[in-house]
This record gives sequence, C-alpha cells and structure tokens, in this order.
Amino acid sequence: MATLLVKNATILVTMDDHQREIPEGGLFMRDGFIEAVGQASDLPNAADEVLDLRGHLVLPGLVNTHHHFYQTLTRAVPAAQDANLFNWLKTLYPIWARLQPDDIFVSTQTALAELALSGCTTASDHLYLFPNGSRLDDEIAAAKEIGVRLQASRGSMSLGESKGGLPPDSVVDTEENILKDSQRLIEAYHDPKPGSMVQVVLAPCSPFSVTGELMKQSAALARQYGVHLHTHLAETEDEEQFCLQKFGYRPVGYMQSVDWVGEDVWFAHSIYVNPEEIGVFATHQCGVAHCPSSNMRLASGIAPIKEYLAAGVKVGLGVDGSASNDSSHLLAEARQAMLLARLKEGVTGFSLSNDPSRKLMTARDALRLATRGGAAVLGRSDIGSLEVGKCADFFAIKLDRLDYAGALHDPVAAAVFCNPVRVDYTVIGGRFVVREGQLATADEMKLVEKHNRAAKRLLEG
Ligand SMILES: [Zn+2]
Repeated sequence: MATLLVKNATILVTMDDHQREIPEGGLFMRDGFIEAVGQASDLPNAADEVLDLRGHLVLPGLVNTHHHFYQTLTRAVPAAQDANLFNWLKTLYPIWARLQPDDIFVSTQTALAELALSGCTTASDHLYLFPNGSRLDDEIAAAKEIGVRLQASRGSMSLGESKGGLPPDSVVDTEENILKDSQRLIEAYHDPKPGSMVQVVLAPCSPFSVTGELMKQSAALARQYGVHLHTHLAETEDEEQFCLQKFGYRPVGYMQSVDWVGEDVWFAHSIYVNPEEIGVFATHQCGVAHCPSSNMRLASGIAPIKEYLAAGVKVGLGVDGSASNDSSHLLAEARQAMLLARLKEGVTGFSLSNDPSRKLMTARDALRLATRGGAAVLGRSDIGSLEVGKCADFFAIKLDRLDYAGALHDPVAAAVFCNPVRVDYTVIGGRFVVREGQLATADEMKLVEKHNRAAKRLLEG
C-alpha cells in the first residue's frame, strides 16, 4: 500500500518538541513515512486506505531499548522465581544452553507479537548465547515476518567460570569467533538509512561474562562500521563488587578504561552509579535503558532516573528479558516506570517536603521516555514522534472499554494510569501489524502452541 490516511482520532499525541496533542487528529502517510499531521482540514481527503479512528487515542509507536526475546521460553521457571540476579542467571544458564535455532525463531515471534500488541513498533534485542548452531540470523528472519523494527544486538560471552567469570564454560565462545561473526552480521544486515527495519548493534553481555579485551575490540569494530554498542552495566551491588575486585574499577570507571563511553553507547539498568558517574554519562552522551519491572522482580534496586534526566542523560524504557519481567508489555513498563519513580520520591521524603521543585513523574513523562527517550537512546532520529518526515509508526487504543471507564477526562493519562491494555492497532512503516486488536502478521494461537511445546522441551532437557 502506498498511502494511508488516519482520521478523526479523539486525541492524537505527537510527542513533537511542542508536546502537541491534536483533538480530532489524523495522519497522512506515503510509502512508510508521514507526510502530514493534523486535523481533517490539514490532511488530504483520500488515500489507498482510510482508517477512521473515531473514539481512539493515537500515540507514536513505543520504542523498547532492552530485551532478551529468547527468555520468553523460560518465564516463571520455579527454581528462578525468587532469586537475585547472579543466582537467577546460574539457574537459567544450563537451561538456555539447550536452545536450538528454531527456539530463537519462535521466541522472537512471541516477544515481538506481545510487544506489538502493547504499542511497540521498534525493539532492541540482546541475544548473547548461541548454543547448538543458533545464530542472530534466526532472530532477524523472525522479526522480518512479524514486521517490528529491530535493533539486533549481537551479544557475546567469553569469560567462563574457569577464567573467573559467572557463566559456565559451556555457554561462552572464543573472542575470535565472536568478532568474526559480529563483522559478518554487520555486513549482512545493518541498514543505517531512515526507515531501516534492521540495525545491528555489538553487545558483549556484561562485565562478569566478557573480558576487557573483547570490550575494546568490539568497540573498535563497531566504530569502524558506525554501529552502536550496548551492554548491561551497574545492575547490582554484586556486579560492583565483581568489577572492583577483578578490574580495580567501579563499573562506569571500567567502561571508561575500555573505551566504552560515547553517544554510540547505551547501558541497560545503570542503577548503582554515583553523581560523578551520572556526569560521565551526560558528558559523553551515553544512554540508559531503564527496566523497572526487571529491577523490581530481581530485587536489584531503583535507577536514579530523575537525576539522569536532570543531568541531560538520554533515558529510554526496556521490558528486559522475559525471564525477569515476565512479560513484554511496553505500555505496562511505562506505567511501572512512573510508579517506581514515585515510590523513589516517597522513600526520600516527598510527602514531608514542601519544596515546589520536587515533582512526581507524570503519565506524559513516562510516555515520553517510552517514545522520544527510546529513540534517542537507540540513536534513531526517524522514530519516536508523529511528525512530517518520520516513520509511519503509531498505535491506537479504543477508549470505550472497561479498563478506562471513568478515566476519559484525560485519555492520554488513562493509557498509563489505568490497567495496561492490549492495543487495537499497531502500524509500522505503514504496515498493519495489529488490526482490530488482533495480530495481523502471524497466527497468534498457533504461535502460542509452538512456543509452549518449545518451552516444555527446553525445561525437560
Ligand atoms: Zn538484560
């Protein structure tokens, strides 16, 4: 389809620099990009397809900045339900070591289906183990079918238990293989152009699973090709102790020592940072993927989001891997981000303070993190808002529903304050991925059945 006209939305949230929210709003899109935004009088009145979104809220597609799709196969695993990060990982590594290429494919489709049904149109994924011939190619092929934009992070682990790392030796790879495969993937798939459906990212897993040498080599390779860099950082106090003992640095200092700061770098979690380290992120324009559900699930801690934003650090949201969430609902993550930020204010005495400069995170702030924030973290200026020239990525929610009953004084806030819903439309680059509340690019129930079979086989060993 070449042109698509959306009209009559109850409210269309642009997330542009003026925070415009347009009543009776619409969009005109051609070949996957937005050509006009506004009310009926600002838009052409015909198109190849016309979608009347009367009674719907329209928002820019949400951007997920951190995930591990394969973990949808190991949600709510009994032995890993009540563990902190290191014990959770040690329980799950041997199960993940049994992953097959087809498991990567089916779990990618499941995670992206869930994300699309929660309003997500661009997702970053971090795949860092490749057992039994699994490849990032399996994930990229699966994403192409579903139709969600993918920042495919080629993860890696090279520091096994025998060398003082956390993962068992059976799931780590040689650094030579990792770098060779990283280069192959960039050359085969990375598309830097506006509207790109696949970008490759280099992503050694974490300080406790790769060597400093691999961090440096990955950074050099990424910069040679102009691709971005991603890793987990400062997620727990255990990790901080590990870095101090093994490398003689706190996590952020360690990143500086291996050339891992810059506008091309974003970190997941980044909870245990001090004010100077927040300053390092701001100065070097590093981004942060905030994953509140996972941080609560694993009792990791609360990231200093307010301090990051005050310092000018780019912050986006991530659902994180589905074994520590255990969901891929990005709108729900925006709600968690808002609630957790408020709780953090509460424990530092918000209710006792009369200081008017102390503000709570609003629903619109949370939506901004999930859209513009995520786009900035991923280094993409073509997504994150509904503006002329940007990608035709949006989602729509029908307002007349039980979840929002009594909340329609402010439908935009309802999307965050009320129970996170399954969205009614998700359009990515002009293509319908969700239509009338149903996944349009795959058979949902067949996918669930296949996924459950794979999960059962994986757990039974
Ligand atoms: Zn993660």
